[in-house]
Amino acid sequence: MSLPVYRFAPSPNGHLHLGHAYSALLNYEAAKQNNGRFLLRIEDIDTVRCTPQLQEDMLEDLHWLGVNWETPVRRQSEHFDDYTKALTKLDAMGVIYKAYLTRAQIKRFVAEHDATGTPWPRDPDGAPLYPGDNNVLSHEEQNSLHQSEAPYALRLNMGKAIELAGSRLNWTEAHHGKIEASPAAWGDVTLARKDTPTSYHLSVVTDDALQGITHIVRGKDLYHATSVHRLLQTLLELPEPLYEHHDLILDEAGRKLAKSAKDTSLRELKASGVTPEQIRKRLGL
Ligand code: GLU
Repeated sequence: MSLPVYRFAPSPNGHLHLGHAYSALLNYEAAKQNNGRFLLRIEDIDTVRCTPQLQEDMLEDLHWLGVNWETPVRRQSEHFDDYTKALTKLDAMGVIYKAYLTRAQIKRFVAEHDATGTPWPRDPDGAPLYPGDNNVLSHEEQNSLHQSEAPYALRLNMGKAIELAGSRLNWTEAHHGKIEASPAAWGDVTLARKDTPTSYHLSVVTDDALQGITHIVRGKDLYHATSVHRLLQTLLELPEPLYEHHDLILDEAGRKLAKSAKDTSLRELKASGVTPEQIRKRLGL
C-alpha cells in the first residue's frame, strides 16, 4: 500500500485560531505516526479577502506551533487552470448551468415563500437552496440576461448530477464506517462564478486528487459538505479519500471560534506568552 498523505488546507482570510491549530496538529501527528506525508495547501481562491500578509502570518503561526510541511506549498490561486479543466468536464456532461439570480432576489423569493407558512428548504449550513431562475424571472428576463454581460454563477444541476452519478454515494468516516451521502440537501451548489473560475467544493476535490491526498482530517463543520465532494469525485472520476471529521474547538460560551475573535487567535496567544506546549495541552493533544 502507498504511503498515507494528509493535508491541512487553511484559507488565509483571517488569523489562525485554536480550531485551526487542532486540525493542523491532528493531521501533522497522524502523518508522522503513520509514516505518511503532510502537505499544506493554501485555499486562497478569494483573492480579495486572502491577503499575502495574512498568508505570511499563517505560515509563521504554523511554524511556531511546531508544524512542518513539504514544499512547494500548493496555492489555489496559482492553479485556476486545473479547476477550469474540471469545470469543462462537468459542463460536457451537461450538469452545469448559468444562474442569474442576485442575492437580493433570492432573499426576496425566500422571504415571500416563508411567509406562506411553508418554509423554503435550507441546506445543512442553513442557507436557502437556490430557487432556480424559472421561479423568479420571466422567459424574456432570462433571455436578455443570457445575452447580456450580467454576472452569473455556474451552478450544478443537482438532480441531473445525482442521476448521472448513479449508484448510491457514500464515504468512509473513521470510527463510523460507511456514511450515506445526501448531496440533494445542498440543492444546486455554486461551482464557479463569472469572475472566479472555481468554488470551495470544486477546488477542494480537484486538489485533493491532484495532490494524492488519502486521508482528510478536518472539522465537523465540513461533515455535510462531504456529500457534495463525493458527488463531484464520482462525476470527475477522482479517487475516494478516507474522511475523519473532528470535534470543533469551542469558546468559553460554547460557540464556534471565529477568525475575527482575538482571544483564541494563535498570534494573540503567542503575544500573551502562551507556549505551543500549552496550546497542545489545552487542545488535549
Ligand atoms: N479551506 C477550508 C477551511 O479553511 C478547509 C477545507 C477542507 O479541509 O476541506 O475551512
